[in-house]
Amino acid sequence: MKPEAAARARDTLDLAPRFTEHDAVRLNRLFRGASTEEMLTSVIRDNLAGDLAVVSSFGAESAVLLHLVASVDPSLPVLFLDTGKHFAETLAYRDDLTARLGLNLVVLTPDAEELAKRDESGLRWSYDPDGCCELRKVRPLEKALANYDASFTGRKAFQAATRANLPRFELDTSDAAGRLKINPLIDWDAGQIEAYFIAHDLPRHPLIAAGYPSIGCSPCTSQVAPGEDPRSGRWKGWDKTECGIHKPGEEPFL
Ligand code: SF4
Repeated sequence: MKPEAAARARDTLDLAPRFTEHDAVRLNRLFRGASTEEMLTSVIRDNLAGDLAVVSSFGAESAVLLHLVASVDPSLPVLFLDTGKHFAETLAYRDDLTARLGLNLVVLTPDAEELAKRDESGLRWSYDPDGCCELRKVRPLEKALANYDASFTGRKAFQAATRANLPRFELDTSDAAGRLKINPLIDWDAGQIEAYFIAHDLPRHPLIAAGYPSIGCSPCTSQVAPGEDPRSGRWKGWDKTECGIHKPGEEPFL
């Protein structure tokens, strides 16, 4: 092949989406009936989804996914969005878990120039939470994920009605790159999460005992009364259920 033709062929390959809806369906079928551990081991060791990263908020239940993934390969990058608005307890918990599990932590931060321009007072969350999340979460993550083919999330169906129908593997529709989003814990219930914490002696986020079952940035996280939807304490008073990284799930369960 002539050099120009080879360059054209490479361009064509580079522009193609990494995965399609069909791949997500195929992977969901392939692992139907498989345990979370079997699926994770296979996906990671057999390189079924390319270059992988874990996205973690080091929230109330994050330790479970981090422990599961680190048990297979602790060198997988764990991306943490440091929005500048986290509880001090979350940052301390992040450092504790990282040391205990030997994680490969990658801290993502918002673009300093953009932050100075669009959120000079640091109060954008109070009048435009969507814009604040866009600036502090969505863009930095988008930039980081461009280097990966798939990301693991810790989403679980029981966390909110909007997550009830999510599959294990889905296409990340945030851009046209065709990355996969993998939700290994999507079918876990609260009892399984609790049992895993106990079986592996995992430390708890210090704010759970204070009435925060779902923990995000401090200005946008409120306490939740016993029996309420665990995620109802996020963006209380706003018509907002997700931070823009995830869209409310409508995909059929595969
Ligand atoms: S959760 Fe709140 S503080 Fe954090 S990025 Fe979103 S709007 Fe801003």
